[in-house]
Amino acid sequence: MEPVVPLPLDLSTLDSLTQSAKDYAVLNGLTYLTGGQNNTSDLVSFAPFALLPSPVPRALFVQARAVQKDFNLLVHRVSHDRAFLSRCLSSVVKVDNFTASLFHIYEQVQEEGVTQPICLGLHRSDYLLDNTTNNDGVGTNGVTACRQLQLKQTEINTIAAAGAGFGEKIARVHKHVLNLLGVADAYKHIPENRALDSQLDGFVAAWEQYGSQKAIIVFVVEEERCRNVFGQRLSEFTVMERHPGLVVKRYSLRQIAEDAELKSDKTLFIHGSEVAVVYFRAGYSPAHYPTEKEWSARLKIERSRAIKCPCISYHLAGTKKVQQELAQPGVLERFLEDPKAVSRVRATFAGQHTLEMGLEGDRTVQMVMRSPEDYVMKPQREGGGNNIYGEDIRTVLNELMQKDFEERTAYIVMDLICPAVLQNYFIRPGDWPRLQDSSCELGIYGVFMAEGDQVFHNKQGGHYLRTNGSSGGDGGVYVGNAVLDSPYLV
Ligand code: ADP
Ligand code: MG
Repeated sequence: MEPVVPLPLDLSTLDSLTQSAKDYAVLNGLTYLTGGQNNTSDLVSFAPFALLPSPVPRALFVQARAVQKDFNLLVHRVSHDRAFLSRCLSSVVKVDNFTASLFHIYEQVQEEGVTQPICLGLHRSDYLLDNTTNNDGVGTNGVTACRQLQLKQTEINTIAAAGAGFGEKIARVHKHVLNLLGVADAYKHIPENRALDSQLDGFVAAWEQYGSQKAIIVFVVEEERCRNVFGQRLSEFTVMERHPGLVVKRYSLRQIAEDAELKSDKTLFIHGSEVAVVYFRAGYSPAHYPTEKEWSARLKIERSRAIKCPCISYHLAGTKKVQQELAQPGVLERFLEDPKAVSRVRATFAGQHTLEMGLEGDRTVQMVMRSPEDYVMKPQREGGGNNIYGEDIRTVLNELMQKDFEERTAYIVMDLICPAVLQNYFIRPGDWPRLQDSSCELGIYGVFMAEGDQVFHNKQGGHYLRTNGSSGGDGGVYVGNAVLDSPYLV
């Protein structure tokens, strides 16, 4: 695939374009915190972005959107299958304290009886555009191997899927840039992105379903303001602007532990307000639970009548281990009765392999030790920067073998996806525009709300494109080497 315009750009064009794009980004609120004392808004910059939108084959974009409703339903069904969740996670919880603590809350609430059967899902399914050579559809002489990009899922995020508001903003920056470059018809290639509105629809649907005019929505956030606080604020302020009277408040898990009260009918109150919906923008990392207090807050919320986004079972359904199990033959059929839905979902799966104790897990170890460069090893963690690649996989497995090999079950192994590489300028605060090899990762949002078999809301909810530098490693826009981007459909 070719970049949207021939690269490199001449220096004076690059210079004026970069300046204009940065200004446009700041003016439009494509911003993040650059640090400083207490992460106040006194030190703000544009968020890192790609100067040009990245070409994405239209067919793959359409495919990713089309499968989202299947994924929404899949998460819901999986989360309601206690036997399956328990079996999937039984080995992990023995060696991974964090997943064990989440699972313990799940079990406790299941035993007590779930007070709020309605769950709200604001998911994001992420894909790389796989560029592995394949021989599908080649001519009969069998000589030519065709390279055809394929949509391959890296993971589905069921908790704290960020970025909903920034997709529209970066698309506007890109339209501005292409306008300056004189690219005709740019508007036809950059798709509409209603991610923020879709998210808003989900919040309002959940709040209405709860059915109390005075009740509020609580965003659970980290104790310290994070770099991406404006992304959260955008969701928060948009709800309040578009739905006057509906109040959103932000609390940390510690504050909820200290100040929230669970009434005898399981209604959750904080500072005198009844809570209708709890939306987790924190709570997915062990770092968010420094003491038992934070765990007690999670349990308190889970026991309450408030509608959770996500409920603990959606959170668990999004673990890497569950995703690895879903990729095994015959498993999707247990949850999706429509064979077409099964095919749509399965087509996006890369190979995934168990590391459980036993023959199958041993086979995975042998396979990975032989050619670690073909795999990624993933622990049950979210937020980027946790995966193990290449030679490091050998090192980690060798280390585990020497202490307690059962600890390998905290991980899963996934086939390495080799995304299409293309050049783009990375624009970062305080840095020159850098022309880098890059590959993009497409996220599609899903908005879902159901009570048991009754589905109230199942929508595909817009997109999010990140571009990663191909220097290795992973991590999001705010923690790693990625920049915000938008798809240019070709
Ligand atoms: P996290 O929950 O930390 O975001 P991910 O599974 O999304 O975990 O992995 C983080 C990053 O690692 C992804 O954004 C992607 O860039 C890269 N990655 C994940 N899985 C693969 C894979 N199978 N092949 C290549 N890169 C991958
Ligand atoms: Mg991810």
